[in-house]
Amino acid sequence: MSIRRVSCPARIVFLDGEMAALDELEGGFTAEQALWCALEEGHTGLHHVIAQCVRGTETAPPWVMWARWPPGNEYGPGRELLRLDSCPAKFLAGAVSEQACSLPEGHVGRHDYEFGPPITEADVMPDWLLRRLDE
Ligand SMILES: [Zn+2]
Ligand SMILES: [Zn+2]
Repeated sequence: MSIRRVSCPARIVFLDGEMAALDELEGGFTAEQALWCALEEGHTGLHHVIAQCVRGTETAPPWVMWARWPPGNEYGPGRELLRLDSCPAKFLAGAVSEQACSLPEGHVGRHDYEFGPPITEADVMPDWLLRRLDE
């Protein structure tokens, strides 16, 4: 979730009924009432942001409740709270410094770890060095 703007300049303010629904989710954290869209600036389609993360139980994995809403019509049709799977992409997959994309599966635009100045493997501390620091 993003309470500060990191990407798209669209913001959602949850209605009291939506806040109540988010706070009622078992194992969730305290919901924030106003959040910035998490997708890349200039994206097409609906705005998206994580509204609530729910801890899993022994039998159920953790899951994420997303809010999505139409551009230019925040309260219009298409605004909804729904459960979406996460994007499976990972930066430096398998490495100590692996970073998962925290956007929903099938999102438009780049993965969130690609926002901002370009990152390459050369910018990241190599695994062998991290392991040495751990010793
Ligand atoms: Zn957006
Ligand atoms: Zn992604």
